[in-house]
This record gives sequence, structure tokens and C-alpha cells, in this order.
Amino acid sequence: MPVGLYIHIPFCRGKCPYCDFYSVLPSKGIIDRYADCICSHLKEHSDRRFDTVYFGGGSPSLTRAKNIARMIECANLYGNPEITVECNPSDCGESGFDFEKAASAGVNRISLGMQSAVDSERKTLGRRADAGDVLNAVKRAQSAGIDNISLDLMLGTPGQNSESLKRSVDFCFSSGAKHISAYILKIEEGTRFFRIKDKLSLPDDDETADLYLKCVELIEENGMKQYEISNFAFQGFESRHNLKYWHCEQYLGLGPAAHSFIDGRRFYYERNLEEYMKNPTAVPDGEGGSFEEYAMLALRLTEGLQNSKVKERFNFDIPAEIFENAKRFEQNGLIKICDDTISLTAKGFLVSNAVIGSLII
Ligand code: SF4
Repeated sequence: MPVGLYIHIPFCRGKCPYCDFYSVLPSKGIIDRYADCICSHLKEHSDRRFDTVYFGGGSPSLTRAKNIARMIECANLYGNPEITVECNPSDCGESGFDFEKAASAGVNRISLGMQSAVDSERKTLGRRADAGDVLNAVKRAQSAGIDNISLDLMLGTPGQNSESLKRSVDFCFSSGAKHISAYILKIEEGTRFFRIKDKLSLPDDDETADLYLKCVELIEENGMKQYEISNFAFQGFESRHNLKYWHCEQYLGLGPAAHSFIDGRRFYYERNLEEYMKNPTAVPDGEGGSFEEYAMLALRLTEGLQNSKVKERFNFDIPAEIFENAKRFEQNGLIKICDDTISLTAKGFLVSNAVIGSLII
């Protein structure tokens, strides 16, 4: 069976104040050497076939398209692979990331870290590019023939309100994006926002919940469908790679901080670039693919937990007590039960951890 391939590109020009993804400032020549290292690591996995490839980060757009092309060439691709590159709009000016070269290497999907189309909000989030740069990046990708473009939105950011959110959503649709990922800002320990959180004028929990529900409504009014807690797409433009995570399918993750699920085992690489480049050593992270894990991931999707799929994969039915528990949440509008399927509503997604936790555990 083909599997998904995730390649972590751990380089950024600076650190955004809310971000806890693993990235470092690139020193001279390191990005080329890192691409070499990924290529040799990929050779060790030449027995795997990949039908999706996702370059995430970090800022993959900081690597030259030539390096992206080299890494793609080293991967044993299967069928008609979806190949995504996460791009930072500030790397995508005329002399920046070469979309034409990336497209000829097989890249057919771009995920742009926009976060907001309102420049004052972007500035607070420490993003250098303005809305004009984001639009320019979208247009450059489209003229290179990459039509499948996803824009990231951040919800519950300092100063955001429903009017400014509407401006960001309108921007996504007028740009021609086919997919939107809308994440609620989480203040992570170790980030600059964590240190100054009392000084940030963050919306409170109720206001953030209203922003999320408003976002779902605005996006769906424009014709995209929600398919996961934070993800929306026009039909046929759902992320095939990310669906592998939520369908509990296999994927290989290369690079420091990358996680994998292969042959029933989970493992990851430490957040340490030098160590990874010297000697990539996988850290075991236990078994994966149990019914509980599958169910927790399926409930993140609007398609929900379906008995027919459970039966096909595990050869048993969804336990009756899960349906009984689900009925309690159905009464207050957090869950829908339809024939053999349990799924969360948009309101349920807001408290998904608590709902899924009490359904499954
Ligand atoms: S948000 Fe993106 S660009 Fe900013 S530091 Fe994190 S990975 Fe880098």
C-alpha cells in the first residue's frame, strides 16, 4: 500500500511570537546539505511508495525549488501523487520561491501561511508580508499552473473581531483559494506570546467560540464544505495527505520533529537538526492504530465515526456504550447520530477534546 511522506524543513528567517514548531535560522549552505541528508535518508526507504508528499515546516519556501525538486526525485512516488509545499508569503516575491520550477518538479498544491488578510493583525502576529504579498504569492503559484491553493487563517488573535474575520474570509474567496485551514490561536509555553499573554488583548473564550462559529458559517456560505475541525475545501480539494492522518493511515515523517506511523508502530525524530543530520535515530513512540485512536481521529472529521468502516477495519461494531454516550451529547447539539454514524457538529468541534474524551475513554 502506498503511504504518505512528510518532510520537515526546519528553517525560518525568524520566530513568529506564537509559534512552537521546530525551526532554526539557516546558516550558510545548510539548506543544501539538509536536502542531501533527506535524499540519503529517503534512499533507505526506497521500498516504500508514496502517493502524497507534504513539505512542512518551518518554511519550506526558504529552500530553493531546486532542492524541493531533488527531494521529490529521491522519493519513490506512486500513481498521481499530491505534492504540497508550505510557503511563507514573505519568501514568495518575484525573486523568491520559484513556483514554475516547483510545478515542473511535480508540486501541485501550495499551503500559504496567511493567518489574516488584515495587515494590523498580521503585524501583531509577527508576519512580515502584507495582504498584497499574499495575493501576489497566490497569483504567482496560479500562473505556474498550481491551482490547488490553501490559505491558513488564525482565529482568536489579538484585536480580531467578526468584521475583520469577514475581511479575511472574503480575501480567501476573491483570491481563488480552493482550501482554507482555520486554527484557533493557542498560546503555547515557551513562545513570546506566552511570556506577554497578559498584555495581549486576546478575545475571551466565548468571543473566540463565536469567531469560530462565524468562520464556519462564512466559509460554508461561500461554497466550501467543512471536512475537519479546522479544514474546509471545495469538493475534490480536501488535503489527501492530511486525510491520511485522520483516517489513521500510514505515513513516514523525515526530519527533526517529524512523526511517523508505519507497520503499526509510531516513532519520531528529536527536535535537533544537528543530531538528525549526523545520525537520524528514530525514537519509538509505541503502537498505533487501535480502535480508540482510530475513533478519536475519525471524530475530528465531519464524516465522523462510521460503523461500516469500523467493521471493515476491526471486524467488530462500534461498541453500544459509545452510541449510548453519544446520545447525551446529541441532546445539547454537540453530536449528530445518523444511522450507523456518529459525528460532531460545529458546536461540538469547539469542545472536541472533552466530547471525544468522554465518548471513547
Ligand atoms: S509560524 Fe511558520 S514562519 Fe513563523 S516561525 Fe513558525 S514555522 Fe516559521
